Amino acid sequence: MKKFHATGVYGAIAIGTASIFKRQDTSVRRKKIDDIDNELKRIAHAKERAIAQLSEIYERALSEVGEAHAQIFEIHMMMIEDDDYNESIENIIKTQSVNAEYAVAATSDNFSDMFASMDDAYMQARATDVKDISNRIIACLTNENHQKSDTLIKLIVCADDLAPSETVSLDKDKVLAFVTAFGSSNSHTAILARNMNIPAVINAGEDFLNSVSDGDRIIVDGHTGDIIIAPDSETEAFYLKKQAEDNRKKSLLQELKGKENITKDGKKINIYANIDRVKEIGAVLANDAGGIGLFRSEFLYLESNDFPTEELQFSAYKKVLESMAGKKVIIRTLDIGADKQAEYFNLEKEDNPELGFRAIRICLTKPEIFKTQLHALYRASVYGNLGIMFPMITSVGEVEKIKVILEDVKSELDNDGIAYSDNIEIGIMIETPAAAVISDELAPLVDFFSIGTNDLTQYTLACDRQNAKLEPFIDTHHKAVLRLIEMAAQNAHKFGAWIGVCGELAADTSLTETFLKMGIDELSVSAPFILPLRETVRNADLSK
Ligand code: PEP
Ligand code: MG
Repeated sequence: MKKFHATGVYGAIAIGTASIFKRQDTSVRRKKIDDIDNELKRIAHAKERAIAQLSEIYERALSEVGEAHAQIFEIHMMMIEDDDYNESIENIIKTQSVNAEYAVAATSDNFSDMFASMDDAYMQARATDVKDISNRIIACLTNENHQKSDTLIKLIVCADDLAPSETVSLDKDKVLAFVTAFGSSNSHTAILARNMNIPAVINAGEDFLNSVSDGDRIIVDGHTGDIIIAPDSETEAFYLKKQAEDNRKKSLLQELKGKENITKDGKKINIYANIDRVKEIGAVLANDAGGIGLFRSEFLYLESNDFPTEELQFSAYKKVLESMAGKKVIIRTLDIGADKQAEYFNLEKEDNPELGFRAIRICLTKPEIFKTQLHALYRASVYGNLGIMFPMITSVGEVEKIKVILEDVKSELDNDGIAYSDNIEIGIMIETPAAAVISDELAPLVDFFSIGTNDLTQYTLACDRQNAKLEPFIDTHHKAVLRLIEMAAQNAHKFGAWIGVCGELAADTSLTETFLKMGIDELSVSAPFILPLRETVRNADLSK
């Protein structure tokens, strides 16, 4: 038995089998080979496997998202069969006597450069597709000796770190918990764990990763951050009891469903849910959220291989609005950049990505991407009670530019005779100190503020939220952050706007009374935190 202590980011207990996360390594080395025929056979076999995988994905996409969105996988299958592409691979193998992996990688680079340099936007977009199909073939070549293990049991995923795009690609039905050796508690990976209702522990250290192996029995305590490899029977019995106690408390909370979020002295507050993906709606409804306070729409982009079309976005937003049946749904526009990267955006590597080209800065620089999303949002608005909010605001000028674009979008829809709601609330995130300090100038321009405490904390305390080394320097209750929130609350109310908190601090029940006293109108948290928060509100008495 070996014990490690780390940081728990979502409190629940998991007991199960460890599975080491294997990152797909697509870096390729050039190797000289003697047997050219064998290499040609390998490539033929890998292509067959790639096509079989794509056809499976195509069928799944067809039934889940429809023909229009499934088409891309059909195009990928056709690209794998393309004569020019295949001739290039074969030529490289034959003329240079090199391994198939290298021939595919070299062809991929040449073809994607060629597509990227074309004038036509459609052809430019094919550059990403060539890279995609080539990576798939390389993966099939690399894994040709590996058996695919389609295990039905849930596993505890152990990784060095997980990017948000890797976390969303984990199949929730097969993941019991995850443990990362590195990472920080305000990272999007930690947030995803909470939204996905998966026990998670981060920052377990390199020693943990060196000690755990595939198939080990392990226990993960998301409350305390403890991890136990190969527990003895006494320890396992202790955690089974703790797990049962957890479940008992959770079921007691069920009694709070349908009850008001009201303090003993009569102050009411809205408790909404944060979601990253449409499929989290089930948990939102099961936990009796009063609305959705933050839908991180960028995950639609992170899950796609290309810019999600207006149609795809429209159907996602419509589904959320319809499911919430008239309750408020606040959708945040694209907040990509920093740790949330999608290859097809072709964003340059930056020295300080958290202070970089991200979120509204990308949208205002590339209005065509922004407008596609706004069109989808406005069209979906007739299906429910929509609010739209904008991330990473630092100035009045940005809000004014956004408003001009919103007017453009509305007149384009008017010209096309497309209906939209005339009752959409417009809000901004207060997640930079600049926005909090000028909140008196911003409030008259909007219907609501939503405080992003994750970013507000990182920018106020000058602590990169991705940097695990800084955890000891992050005082999540720092007075500077709380004063900025209070200042924004006062200014919001002075100018008739309402104010919510949607960062992770909203779920910190030791701050609930402080927020209520500041006049915060809404708290938006991961679905599993809704009922515990309701319990705290109902036990609070602000008159004392
Ligand atoms: C925040 O910054 O607090 C927030 C809610 O947004 P995100 O965590 O997605 O940056
Ligand atoms: Mg943020």
